[in-house]
Amino acid sequence: MARRARFLGVGATLCGMATPAHAQSSFAAGTSMDWDGVLTGIFLGLLLFSLAYNAAFYSLLRKPFLIWQSARALIYFALAVALSPLALGPLLEPDSAARQVWICILFDLGVVVSGPFLRTYLEPHAVHKRLYPLLGWPPALILLTTPAMLIDGPPLYMAVRNLLLLAMLALCAATVVIAIARGSRTARYQAAAWSGIAAVYGTSLFHDIVLDRPFALFLFFLFPALGLEVMLTALGILDRLVRLRRERQEARAQAEAMRIIAHTDPLTGLANRRAIEDGFNDDPPVAIALVDLDHFKAINDRHGHDVGDRVIFAAGVALGSGAATAGRVGGEEFALLFRGPASDIAAEAERLRQRIGAYVAQMVPSLKRPVTASMGLVHITRDISFGAAMKSADINLYAAKESGRDRTVFVAAA
Ligand code: GH3
Ligand code: MG
Ligand code: MG
Repeated sequence: MARRARFLGVGATLCGMATPAHAQSSFAAGTSMDWDGVLTGIFLGLLLFSLAYNAAFYSLLRKPFLIWQSARALIYFALAVALSPLALGPLLEPDSAARQVWICILFDLGVVVSGPFLRTYLEPHAVHKRLYPLLGWPPALILLTTPAMLIDGPPLYMAVRNLLLLAMLALCAATVVIAIARGSRTARYQAAAWSGIAAVYGTSLFHDIVLDRPFALFLFFLFPALGLEVMLTALGILDRLVRLRRERQEARAQAEAMRIIAHTDPLTGLANRRAIEDGFNDDPPVAIALVDLDHFKAINDRHGHDVGDRVIFAAGVALGSGAATAGRVGGEEFALLFRGPASDIAAEAERLRQRIGAYVAQMVPSLKRPVTASMGLVHITRDISFGAAMKSADINLYAAKESGRDRTVFVAAA
């Protein structure tokens, strides 16, 4: 009886209103042993479920609150075992002083880890920034007052303990209420999870203060309340993780969209210079070509910039229609990366270059003159940088322009 009575004492102490001695004298009318055992068993099962559940989720999403919740489940598990009549070896006999020490330490540890759990569990925007640091290490101060439950210390010591516990209670309540006001779903789950325990302690407090007699069914209701807290917290965690996963997927999709935008030329939809460089470095090609439209300034001057844009677009479609990776690397300048068999490349490059005129004629029929392009092509036979390869291609392109345009200059090695 002393075992359970002491626990009631611990519980009542949490409310800051009753001393262990007061509580001890009052549990005589307690619940039957059978119910106690059944409820403890169910509670232990729930805690094991909670541990497995958190471990499974942690392998998917490495969130610190899963560790803190596992710590809480482990502490409650050890506490429920310590409170049970199970023999735990000669040093930890039920009702032994050593067992009482463990019960008190475990109880306070359970309170202490609730702070870090709460602040990592709630959505970051929902935690008041002044309360956030208070939920870190300060709750651990309670451990300094754990001996107050075990020794007959000065009343001031007990008062400090009660004050600390009340402060912790107020801190957790304020954090949850503020988070709910800020629209936190997780806080609503947690409020529901803690409501059962709050009701049991509240009733106990009412008995102690108003009725001046102990709440006889304290343990009878406490274990279901703790079980409810474990289950509702598990539901809250599931809900939080589902939302975290969705947020992560959305962030990934957004990052991917940004990456695509950052690597795409908006006018032609082809790769831009950065993407061509990445492609060159990630999967080195066997040849690279630079293509520049001939006398393009004249097209702009004669037909306007809009028509010029349509010509660039058509040239992009032509160059993108082959096996080479095509990109727009300047105003009316394109790059091609060839990765097929080296023997086919010169013919394929020439075919793509000549396709430009046909595509432009079809897609921009208002042009009076055929559009041609010049190309500088180089084989890449050794390990060279993108810059060096482009420079060699540019030299060949310049040679193509100098020798009359509308042609490809191909010098075998870069
Ligand atoms: P060359 O045969 O020597 O290449 O002669 P070119 O007239 O094509 O000469 P150059 O390559 O120097 O001219 C490029 C012109 O392309 C100049 C610029 O106004 C125009 N340009 C650059 N970017 C765009 C663009 O996005 N749209 C349009 N319409 N014109 C552009
Ligand atoms: Mg040009
Ligand atoms: Mg140019």
